[in-house]
Amino acid sequence: MFDHVAPCGRCGGSGAEPGTGTVTCPRCHGSGQQRVSQGAFQFAHACSQCGGTGTIISSPCSVCSGQGGSPKTERINVRIPAGVDTGSRVRVAGKGNAGSPGAPPGDLFITVQVSSHGIFRREGADIVFDLPITFAEAARGAKIEIPLPGGGKTLLTVPPGTQGGQKLRLKGKGFPRLKSKTAGDLFAVIKIRVPKAPKGEAADLLERLDRVLDMDPRKGLW
Ligand SMILES: [Zn+2]
Ligand SMILES: [Zn+2]
Repeated sequence: MFDHVAPCGRCGGSGAEPGTGTVTCPRCHGSGQQRVSQGAFQFAHACSQCGGTGTIISSPCSVCSGQGGSPKTERINVRIPAGVDTGSRVRVAGKGNAGSPGAPPGDLFITVQVSSHGIFRREGADIVFDLPITFAEAARGAKIEIPLPGGGKTLLTVPPGTQGGQKLRLKGKGFPRLKSKTAGDLFAVIKIRVPKAPKGEAADLLERLDRVLDMDPRKGLW
């Protein structure tokens, strides 16, 4: 939805009542110039009645009074090309303000503002999102159903031994690149979720697991 000076619906922007045309300007007799004398000097400037065109509208349009356009709020559908980012400008030809009577209207420029998404973050042509998994899924590997930015879902393979913070890539599932047939990638950033204060059987199993695994994640660090 936008406001602009639209070409007049009755005269189509010419400013002349339909069926009538232009006549030679009576003030300058078609020369488009007016002469003024000031002492010994003579100056020429654009005719005040016709604006220098030499012609005037014989009967001004009854709707726009010869202005050729009128303020209008309009709602139009605009095709936004795939791959635009915040700040991209999209041109809509002929939807700008009407020019002077008889001139074609200008263009409408739309500045794109890409709104943020609850799940996906944009990094250039790539899209990044957090994928929470359990430590069992991380250790053993898993096939996890994930949403796709363009809609729909797909199965992502989390390989065994996946670490927290690791990025799993789905090639070509990011944003299409402007003026290119290629697309960015989709990255799932692994977030390992651990149970909060496990008790009973879970606590026993974890203790046993720790003993059986016998791993030292800080080995060699300090
Ligand atoms: Zn004139
Ligand atoms: Zn008009």
